[in-house]
Amino acid sequence: MAHQIIAIDGFASTGKSTLSKRLAAYLGYRYIDTGYMYRAISYYAMTNGLVKHNKVDEQMLISQMTSLQFEWKEDSRGVLHIAINGLIQGEELRTNDVSNLVSEIASIPEVRSHLLTQQRNLAKVQSVVMDGRDIGTVVFPDANHKFFLNADAEIRAQRRFDEMQAKGIPASFEEVLKNVIERDKRDSERKIAPLKKADDAIEINTSNLNVDEVFDILCGYVRE
Ligand code: C5P
Repeated sequence: MAHQIIAIDGFASTGKSTLSKRLAAYLGYRYIDTGYMYRAISYYAMTNGLVKHNKVDEQMLISQMTSLQFEWKEDSRGVLHIAINGLIQGEELRTNDVSNLVSEIASIPEVRSHLLTQQRNLAKVQSVVMDGRDIGTVVFPDANHKFFLNADAEIRAQRRFDEMQAKGIPASFEEVLKNVIERDKRDSERKIAPLKKADDAIEINTSNLNVDEVFDILCGYVRE
């Protein structure tokens, strides 16, 4: 059977990564978190002097990006982690500082095309569940299944805030809500590969559904 591609797009903190990870494990596919890729580049820019007074030095970032060693390392559960120049990137990519920068970095055309190639290459060798913002529209317009998740902003912010609290990442609810709203606006309004539902994607509003309920819905469509 040819490699299968399941695209899960949607607004920030709609549960995409939790559900994609679970669906990938259930189907025996590889889970690819593309937001993690944009976050890794943002973190690199932040920690290598490429962001000064809240301004990204785009030219410098673009020139360094191609030589950046972006390796994938698999953990014992088969989940891929990014190592930049040998260092595995983890929870430091989920802080508010990175969340506040990532949409700007993700709007740089050269960053997107660099990651687009990597995303397509990852699916050449295995079946994948890939989550992001433009997977069903740009990265894999011919994906076998496409889903688009949405939920009320307050509910999404509360879920994200609870998750951050559980992981010990400092933040206030107001900060998280502001970030979620601003990120969605910026991601939806950018010129290249904006966040939007593919015409043929199945939209699921997760506001009043728990993870098990959404997972059952996804599985129902995938099994069809
Ligand atoms: O999924 P996550 O919230 O970690 O994504 C972080 C950011 O990365 C998004 O707000 C968006 O700016 C960017 N992104 C993107 N395209 C993707 C995945 C993420 O622009 N496919």
